[in-house]
Amino acid sequence: MVEKKKTTTKKTETKKKDTKKVAPVKQEIKKQAPVKTGPSEKPRIGVFICHCGTNIAGSIDIKDLEAYAKTIPNVAHTDNYQYVCSTPGQKKITDAIRDQKLTGTVVAACSPRLHEPTFRTATKEGGLNQFRFEMANIREQNAWVHMHDKEGATDKAKDTIRIAVAKASLLEDLTPKTVPVEKAAMVVGAGIAGMQAALDLAAAGIKTYLIESAPSIGGRMSQLDKTFPTLDCSQCILTPKMVDVGRDSNIELYTYSEVDAVEGYIGNFDVTIRKKARGVLTMAEAEARGIIGGGCNGCGDCDPVCPVVKPNVFEMGMKPRKAIYINHPQVVPLLYTIDFDSCVKCGLCVTACGPERKAIDLEAKDEFIKVKVGTAILATGFELFPIEKKTEWGYKKFENVITGLEFERLICASGPTSGHLVRPSDGETPKRIAFLLCAGSRDNTGVGKPYCSRFCCMYSLKHAHQIYEKIPGAQTYIFYMDIRSFGKAYEEFYYRIQDEGTKFVRGRVANILEDPKSKNLHVYADDTLLDRPMDLEVDLVVLASAVQPSEDTNRTRKLFGVSCSMDGWLLEAHPKLNPCGTTTAGVFLAGVCQGPKDIPDTVASAEGAASAASIPIHKGEVELEPYFATCIEEKCAGCGMCVNLCPYSALALVDKDGRTVMEVTEAKCKGCGTCGGFCPGGAIWMNHFATPQIVAQIDAFLLGGEQ
Ligand code: FAD
Ligand code: SF4
Ligand code: SF4
Ligand code: SF4
Ligand code: SF4
Ligand code: SF4
Ligand code: SF4
Repeated sequence: MVEKKKTTTKKTETKKKDTKKVAPVKQEIKKQAPVKTGPSEKPRIGVFICHCGTNIAGSIDIKDLEAYAKTIPNVAHTDNYQYVCSTPGQKKITDAIRDQKLTGTVVAACSPRLHEPTFRTATKEGGLNQFRFEMANIREQNAWVHMHDKEGATDKAKDTIRIAVAKASLLEDLTPKTVPVEKAAMVVGAGIAGMQAALDLAAAGIKTYLIESAPSIGGRMSQLDKTFPTLDCSQCILTPKMVDVGRDSNIELYTYSEVDAVEGYIGNFDVTIRKKARGVLTMAEAEARGIIGGGCNGCGDCDPVCPVVKPNVFEMGMKPRKAIYINHPQVVPLLYTIDFDSCVKCGLCVTACGPERKAIDLEAKDEFIKVKVGTAILATGFELFPIEKKTEWGYKKFENVITGLEFERLICASGPTSGHLVRPSDGETPKRIAFLLCAGSRDNTGVGKPYCSRFCCMYSLKHAHQIYEKIPGAQTYIFYMDIRSFGKAYEEFYYRIQDEGTKFVRGRVANILEDPKSKNLHVYADDTLLDRPMDLEVDLVVLASAVQPSEDTNRTRKLFGVSCSMDGWLLEAHPKLNPCGTTTAGVFLAGVCQGPKDIPDTVASAEGAASAASIPIHKGEVELEPYFATCIEEKCAGCGMCVNLCPYSALALVDKDGRTVMEVTEAKCKGCGTCGGFCPGGAIWMNHFATPQIVAQIDAFLLGGEQ
């Protein structure tokens, strides 16, 4: 049943092929392990069982487990310890490797995600190749889920260890590869998260490409009026950062652009940027076309002549814009954009712009630019959940039901009403305003989102405060389930709003109805504290809508091979220990694209991501896991089916000695195993997950100790 290793020797010869586009792989950087333990030697496996305090020992009988481990074929040594990951715990491993002449180690403990690197290092320090180590997860996959069944959990742990020993007995020495890292980074999304990350990378001396799909940078924060809890003016604190981004010589800013394609791997990502046709030239672009002194200077002369009127999305549709437009006066870069979906190509803007500036090109086409970067940060942010789906609250049906973001624009001095909060139905100043918290969040009905959107309690408190600031005699009501004021100085801010006179009603709003004549709204809710139904008449309702990942996040994350949670938020490598990293080496996350965060948390995560993304660049080279596929050429029929299956384009067919065979570009292979599991001829050898190793595991499970 078990295949023999001569296949692996063969494939090493194949690897000498030129890898063309990918960076040269330094072969044999790591020397072979000092202890010679060729696969032909009889395996001598050491098993180390961890108590993890009572995490494991509370649910599993360690003594019984160790006694069993001693009986497993190929086990030459066993031990158990309170905390195997501690320094004395690791020393037990290194000592046993030397004293007992072990050929492999199995640690029965927690998840490989947590401590595989720790035990690999201990294995290496004992003198074995670090890949002669296998982890048996008896904590997360056992003790924690079977805590009320000690006997069952102990039996399961025996199976887990037996299976791990079967694999460890067949593990081979593997050599990691190191590849050079391109001294440049990319940040996708230029909200506050992306801008902060780009500024940090640039300050660390790293050339940074900042890609923003909108015509200007700033993201959602540029739409806000004031920010809780300090009530600073959002634009006032954001604009200097936007200007810094525009000025920084280490930042190459691409607005109105998106990532079109990504190839490669950590250290060497080849990224194609699609620069969407903007129809307006920057001064540099004009100069490149020989138009000296030309290009857009933001004078705005084209705007009044354009006959096409569209809703301004930045102003939440509450203000018009033209087909040639900027979203607001502080945009960075100060550069107009033509919306070619609505432009009728009348040419009036071209005339208005004039022959000197000659900034408008109505025939502009998308451009594709290729850049190479070592690491990338995704910072694609969020958008509001379409709250009209919760029909009971009448958004988009009743004019005076608005969202929190619309409130931000209405109350903002630079907004569509110059900061006068008015009712959309009649332009009157509202006096009775109700805020509905958790609108579409913490909602398990299947229509909304099950999670908490994290910043809507606080911004609704801020909104209530802004009303008292601007509208004397107003009365505000906040309908809430719980108030989540968890940040620094947030609870104090909550008390302040209570003192200002806002009435807090604990209860979810069942529905809202409109008085067709007055356009006033009736809010129907159960006051759960007073245990009575309510019918409250108000002039305006503000929905603290749930948030969700921005529209293009899913496409972008797929390009970079990043996973997402069931809700679509991008998935970090580890929620506690690696919150900025992803499972794709070299790709990091910043800001709300990972999950709702307020501005302080967003900035902190961006700084973390920038720091993490700069490490490989500063190191200059990275080590790649040697878990790639290799071709057993004599078995390969050259059918090419695996080539089409590989999601990372790591495979190709090549001619060798008159035969067509498959070849792997190791640096591109992520070791996903798709090809290995598929090949009809069994011609693909997956390092560390080879067929004989997996078959041995299955046998160990099915046959118990009887193999
Ligand atoms: P975003 O601001 O969403 O920025 C993401 C950027 O990425 C955008 O520019 C977007 O165009 C771009 N992008 C998206 N997809 C792509 C792509 N595929 N390619 C290229 N670019 C892309 N927080 C506070 O701390 N205080 C407050 O007072 C406050 N008030 C708020 C009020 C409201 C109504 C709302 C909704 C939020 C409020 N927040 C507040 C939260 C705050 O808005 C966020 O914390 C912050 O905007 C998150 O920044 P970000 O960069 O992660 O995301
Ligand atoms: Fe706990 Fe894992 Fe450390 Fe053991 S190795 S003590 S299971 S964290
Ligand atoms: Fe002025 Fe021409 Fe730019 Fe319009 S396109 S803002 S007219 S320079
Ligand atoms: Fe507006 Fe397009 Fe006419 Fe220019 S060409 S004025 S953008 S409709
Ligand atoms: Fe509800 Fe507050 Fe969480 Fe928003 S932050 S979902 S309003 S609990
Ligand atoms: Fe060769 Fe197998 Fe790939 Fe076909 S699927 S080309 S046989 S390795
Ligand atoms: Fe491609 Fe996965 Fe096969 Fe590697 S293991 S070559 S990534 S299919």
